[in-house]
Amino acid sequence: MNARPRVVVIGAGAAGTAACYAAHAAGAEVVLFDGGPGATSLSTGAVDATPWEQRAAAAATLGLALVAEPLPAEVEAFVTALGCWQLVPAGGPPAWLATESGRLRSARGHDRALLSLAGLPHGARVVLPRVERAEWDADALARALAADPAARALGVALGAADADLLRLHGEERIPAADLAARHDDPERLAFLGARLERVVADERRRDRRVDALLLGPWLGSREARARELGERLGLCVGEVLGTLGGAPGLRLEAARARLLGPRVDLVPARVRSVARVDGELVVRPAASSRAGAGAPTRADAVVLATGGLAGGGIRYVAAEQDAPRGAPARARVPFALSLEAPVRLGVHGEDLDITSSTLGPSLDEVGWPTSAAPSLLESVGLRAGPHRELAPGIFGAGDALADRPRTLLGAVATGLEAGRAAAERRD
Ligand SMILES: Cc1cc2nc3c(=O)[nH]c(=O)nc-3n(C[C@H](O)[C@H](O)[C@H](O)COP(=O)(O)OP(=O)(O)OC[C@H]3O[C@@H](n4cnc5c(N)ncnc54)[C@H](O)[C@@H]3O)c2cc1C
Repeated sequence: MNARPRVVVIGAGAAGTAACYAAHAAGAEVVLFDGGPGATSLSTGAVDATPWEQRAAAAATLGLALVAEPLPAEVEAFVTALGCWQLVPAGGPPAWLATESGRLRSARGHDRALLSLAGLPHGARVVLPRVERAEWDADALARALAADPAARALGVALGAADADLLRLHGEERIPAADLAARHDDPERLAFLGARLERVVADERRRDRRVDALLLGPWLGSREARARELGERLGLCVGEVLGTLGGAPGLRLEAARARLLGPRVDLVPARVRSVARVDGELVVRPAASSRAGAGAPTRADAVVLATGGLAGGGIRYVAAEQDAPRGAPARARVPFALSLEAPVRLGVHGEDLDITSSTLGPSLDEVGWPTSAAPSLLESVGLRAGPHRELAPGIFGAGDALADRPRTLLGAVATGLEAGRAAAERRD
């Protein structure tokens, strides 16, 4: 008999990463099936525990100041080990992050490359360098951010300044993530540092204060380079929130690889099925998985961290697909898990039932969140019992679970719980 429990984690997003980390820490041999990008890869750099709009609305209704909610110690320890996120202290003010659309939004933490305006002293002036890129209108952005009520409450002023930060032909057009990747090179980062020094010197020569520099999501794709720049310049330097599929997602994937590399056996494949055979769980990769990754893997416990609808763990099977053949022959549940497993999908505390209409749910009514209920599409998922157990030996984590807020720290918390429970499970 194997002395160490064998745990298979399926899905390499925030929840799967946390599950691997916790299962390894609890003494398990861990195999991670990475089926490709999911919601975590789309990270823009904001890190929330509960959806930030909900917290902002609750604080406004109650007339209370927004404060950072406490987190379990194990979540804070995981974030420290991951290394790419910065959390704000519990009980204090939240981070305030700038979006490219000119709004400030609160967050429980952020990618280390981002600039939180909450960290600046009252009266600070933030300068946005002018850069010839389509997503970056420094003057308009500075004006919009300065007019945001949060900037006024923080007492932070914003302004734009001339700069010459691009170096090579075509850099005004390349994707932001590619520009970020160029700053992984220390020599190129030094070039940027020297150009930013000029911006600061020019501003100060004109008697304009500079306490921080706010840039686009361009400061490194493997690690956040903002701190090195800040140390060189002697002031705070950071990014605005990225767009989907940009540098913060790449930095998160790089941090995950550094954390899990020594801890897990990585299989780059999607999983077709999980089944109990002769007292063991058997995980079968999809037929399309690359050669060598096709053999079944046996496990004592499995964690399904396969994500929700956004991450591809749950598929929406529209009834309209039957339209060319006429009305569907029978009503059916319009959601399916991305793999076969003896687990139950549910929503709003109930098993997912055959919808009352053969045409499926009325998405214009239930597909959007309201102040009374979250969207059906963001709530549908796996129904779990204690310790996130879905069926004997099979655990769920993150967006794959029904009726859980879809946030990065929520995914981490459930991932840690499921990973530990999987490693400690005994028949
Ligand atoms: C557009 C968008 C913006 C967001 N913004 C924020 C934000 O600002 N702040 C915040 O805190 N949260 C945000 N979230 C939510 C947050 O990203 C998610 O809650 C979190 O990333 C979920 O992590 P997860 O590991 O559960 O799922 P995912 O990251 O989706 O990971 C699941 C993984 O499982 C894989 N998978 C699925 N099926 C299989 C299979 N059969 N075999 C193998 N692998 C499989 C998928 O490829 C995917 O990589 C946002 C989400 C989206 C979509």
